[in-house]
Amino acid sequence: MTLTESELSQFDQEHVWHPYSIINSALPAYQVVSASGVHLNLADGRKLIDGMSSWWSVIHGYNQPEMNRAIKQQVDTLAHVMFGGLTHEPAIELARQLIKLTPSGLETVFFSDSGSVAVEVAMKIAIQYWQAKNHPSKQHFVTIRHGYHGDTFGAMSVCDPINGMHSLFSDCLTKQYFADAPSSGFGSPCSDDDIASLQTILMQNHQQIAALILEPIVQGAGGMRFYAADYLRRARQLCDEYNVLLIADEIATGFGRTGKLFACEHANISPDILCVGKALTGGYLSLAATLTTRTVAETLASGDPGVLMHGPTFMANPLACTAGLTSINLLLNSSWHERINRIERGLEEGLAPCRSFETVADVRVLGAIGVVELKQPVDMKTIQPYFVDMGVWIRPFNRLIYLMPPYIINQSELNKLTSAVTQYLEYLGSGSIPTST
Ligand code: PMP
Repeated sequence: MTLTESELSQFDQEHVWHPYSIINSALPAYQVVSASGVHLNLADGRKLIDGMSSWWSVIHGYNQPEMNRAIKQQVDTLAHVMFGGLTHEPAIELARQLIKLTPSGLETVFFSDSGSVAVEVAMKIAIQYWQAKNHPSKQHFVTIRHGYHGDTFGAMSVCDPINGMHSLFSDCLTKQYFADAPSSGFGSPCSDDDIASLQTILMQNHQQIAALILEPIVQGAGGMRFYAADYLRRARQLCDEYNVLLIADEIATGFGRTGKLFACEHANISPDILCVGKALTGGYLSLAATLTTRTVAETLASGDPGVLMHGPTFMANPLACTAGLTSINLLLNSSWHERINRIERGLEEGLAPCRSFETVADVRVLGAIGVVELKQPVDMKTIQPYFVDMGVWIRPFNRLIYLMPPYIINQSELNKLTSAVTQYLEYLGSGSIPTST
């Protein structure tokens, strides 16, 4: 028996969890029936321009013919096989590409199914590395405030302790070290003051610290902040000075979003461990990867028990690896750099008027990321239906309205996104937000 559109919605509301939500939420989810290019098609016939790339991932747009073809072909060849004791070409080829494209020195690849797990794996690798080097006390991590690294327990422990949404769990999370977030914005030099907090923590606690974990250049879900490349360079130097590994979490920033293929390139540094996910498969299938240097991998192997203690059931799923390979090829064969520059200009111009609103604290743009930070949190009950009525899919959180569209977006679609934001702020200023009921 097929349910009607409204029966489906009702069942969803009563039985299905959504991210950071509750059952019977007052904010029902919109039903998507199909998607193509930059458009999401809703069950009620409305068509929305996607300003979120489904949380950074759908960089080539939806229903992309080459992606569709490659995955369909892979389904008919090998949809899945366990990775323990077995291997396959899609995984090997994807690993080859990742090693080639990521910052120099990263030579080994561990595939997992989500960004959070890639972070867990990175943290385990760092701890096992120091165990093997006979530094068993190095089991903690230092990170910078306003960071976000995922929702599993290890990853949560290194999310911002205040705005990281995880304070509820604080008693069962490992206590980590939190350095002040850099205040030097992107494009400016990093002052001694700015790095002092990290430096002090490392100086005083390096015997306990396995690694510094950070999101290079762009702190995503923890506040959408952009910081100085110089800070990242100095952080790398401090890690070397104090015998601490550097884990770069490029799950959000990887694959061109910031204007470089990987955000580490802005500072010309290489981490010891790198996490990628999200756009890795062009948003088609869930896949993430943790890369390490050969030194890290070989050192880990020399310790007890001599193997990395992790092995997911769906590790290196062939469909996901094929999606990854196809997505990377599409990216490299496109003029992605020009596209990001064009989106950057469009966001800069389109969002510039937001600076003049009383309600706005800051407007910032980097690569294909545009952020309007408000002084007060948005009211999701009014802003979400408003954007849908405007024909755009923008999903703000807290005080942030932000755009990170698929790279294939054209100028007029981009204008629709930015003008929906400016118009919302106009209405907000006038005190009357039109709502659809
Ligand atoms: N790290 C960063 C920087 C992220 O942005 C995210 C996802 N928002 C994660 C880790 C976790 O990834 P996932 O949601 O795939 O577990």
